[in-house]
Amino acid sequence: MRVLRSIAAMQRLAQDWRRDSARIGFVPTMGYLHAGHLSLVREARRRVGRAGKVVVSIYVNPTQFAPTEDLSRYPRDLKRDLALCRKEGVDVVFVPNDATMYPGKAEGKYSTYVVEETLAVRMEGASRPTHFRGVTTIVAKLFNIVLPDLAVFGAKDWQQAAVIKRMVADLNFPLRIVVVPIVREADGLALSSRNRYLTGRRRAQALVLSRAIAQVRRVVRPAPVSAGRLRRVVQRVIAAAPDARLDYVAFFDPETLLPQTRVGRGTQMALAVFIGRTRLIDNARL
Ligand code: AMP
Repeated sequence: MRVLRSIAAMQRLAQDWRRDSARIGFVPTMGYLHAGHLSLVREARRRVGRAGKVVVSIYVNPTQFAPTEDLSRYPRDLKRDLALCRKEGVDVVFVPNDATMYPGKAEGKYSTYVVEETLAVRMEGASRPTHFRGVTTIVAKLFNIVLPDLAVFGAKDWQQAAVIKRMVADLNFPLRIVVVPIVREADGLALSSRNRYLTGRRRAQALVLSRAIAQVRRVVRPAPVSAGRLRRVVQRVIAAAPDARLDYVAFFDPETLLPQTRVGRGTQMALAVFIGRTRLIDNARL
């Protein structure tokens, strides 16, 4: 397994691979890897085959964090991440730094961003107005560096995957986006690097997200229900945890992300909840 830190080295290697007709599968991450990330890596390997190449990037991208968010304390453990990637048979881990990805940014010499203007507006985009601009920009840059045939994303960030798919279609990136299911702890909590922030008492309260989804599932099973009534169902579940505060809950079409007022089977549900200062997200197809 090679660890590359320079864009030129990564691009050159990817170009060599492509010349040799090796398929490239790419998994972009912010590191502090867990079983959710590793399921993306396995899917990339399954799709490109033994003869193909799997690239994982590890980069905590500053442009997708607002100034008030957790950029500086975001968990990092590169040594452990590299060991996990090696065990998974990853070919290259690309680990750039800020000077590499955004040269001259502090002096105003970096000024190009990619913005998706429709799918990125609601939900995460409403709560974190500059977030997806940072995501689409870094992912577009990484696609131009890694030159993948396919890139694997997690359903954990459902809206992100939809925004990336739209960007790839709109900007004609010659690659396929693959989305893999959410990996959860045995008790239902979706795996996330940010779960690291949760202390014992708050770790237990974090179960309100998956509980809210389960409760909504039960309510809509017999027949469709109004989004307003389901919002109250969710609020009740969240209110049971003293340190939990609902940021948003949304019911929408899984492909178009358009809000649905009558919610039934097949509707996508997503929510964001603060547990203390830690903001968690979850989603599911009902
Ligand atoms: P992150 O490192 O949080 O930026 O996540 C990198 C990729 O891993 C994204 O495509 C996420 O959607 C995906 N991911 C994160 N957590 C999970 C999970 N629990 N299950 C599946 N995919 C995940």
